[in-house]
Amino acid sequence: MKDASSYGFGTKAIHAGQEPDPTTGAIMTPIYQTSTYVQESPGTHKGYAYARGKNPTRVALEKCIAALEGAEFGLCFSSGMGAMDAVCKLLRPGDEVITGDDLYGGSYRMFTKVFAHYGIKFHFVNMTDAQNIRKYINANTKLIWAETPTNPTMQIIDIEACAKIAKEHKLILAVDNTFASPYLQNPLALGADIVMHSVTKYLGGHSDVVMGALVTSNKDLYEQLAFILNSCGANPGPMDSFLVLRGLKTLHVRMDRHCYNGRKIAEFLKTHPKIEKIYWPGFTDHPNHDIAKKQMKDFGGMISIVLKGADLKETFRIASSFKVFSLAESLGGVESLVNHPATMTHASIPQEERERAGVVDNLLRLSVGIENVEDLLKDIENALK
Ligand SMILES: *Cc1c(COP(=O)(O)O)cnc(C)c1O
Repeated sequence: MKDASSYGFGTKAIHAGQEPDPTTGAIMTPIYQTSTYVQESPGTHKGYAYARGKNPTRVALEKCIAALEGAEFGLCFSSGMGAMDAVCKLLRPGDEVITGDDLYGGSYRMFTKVFAHYGIKFHFVNMTDAQNIRKYINANTKLIWAETPTNPTMQIIDIEACAKIAKEHKLILAVDNTFASPYLQNPLALGADIVMHSVTKYLGGHSDVVMGALVTSNKDLYEQLAFILNSCGANPGPMDSFLVLRGLKTLHVRMDRHCYNGRKIAEFLKTHPKIEKIYWPGFTDHPNHDIAKKQMKDFGGMISIVLKGADLKETFRIASSFKVFSLAESLGGVESLVNHPATMTHASIPQEERERAGVVDNLLRLSVGIENVEDLLKDIENALK
């Protein structure tokens, strides 16, 4: 489809960026498993010179993800962290970044253990009140990095309010939209400059690919990021690009079911005697529910729970006794997963900081899949017994 912009989300998910193969009419974009392209004469080619820079399967995917986010440009990377790494490489020594105090563990690790060594300063701020950002802005500030909903405590950050502050001070606002997916939330429409995805999660959707993406409608940022991608080489392969193109075709259908199952499970757990606390932005008593309602289409399938009176041993016992949910890192796949952030996804955050952010030892995170919800409810009930 040449221009999918006037169509609905599901139509874009299935068609955007994709054309029948010109040589055979194959309806599915082929896996262009090639590293190089033959040139007619030096520098005269069909737009493709070397596959680190560009690959047709990847280009189709980049266009599709960009369309789903309402962006002009998309770029795919070998992982979500590879995509974030490229955004950090827009910075120079001395630059400062303002980001949240509840981040994906790997994001925190990259900021503090990699880019801090290159003279970039990071401020970890409670961004649930966007006005807190203002206190940390100075002449060196270049980037605001927001993740919403946050992982794993499901805080919601007001993207529009962040964008207003970023515009006032000419800062770049980048949003990690992994948890919401483009089906539930489109940060560019709310004023963000760059959206990042761990494609590994909902976009791929089948727990069989590791990939990342960036989208933007700012041509200058796109050109810088494409330059970094080609220069630094965190490009994904064509086979993985194909798998994600396939996964995307059902994104809207999968997300509807993730949200439906998520709601049923959140409601079930809310009054369960073994649950001390539940984090899910769909509850009207969630501290940022109004913002979630304003900027998200629905509330997703990610839920975190704090087990009442459970020590680490009891928490481990419960985490290991599910039969349908699998104990694993990651999220966003069709199958349900349970994760123990303190020792798994968030182990790289020092204990004190982790607990300050609410990632206590008796917290479990559920990635609710799209199985039959009755089976999931029964599985949870049995595990909590
Ligand atoms: C998984 C994840 C990442 C990192 O992505 P990878 O594809 O694993 O490199 C970044 N942010 C969030 C919110 C994630 O869940």
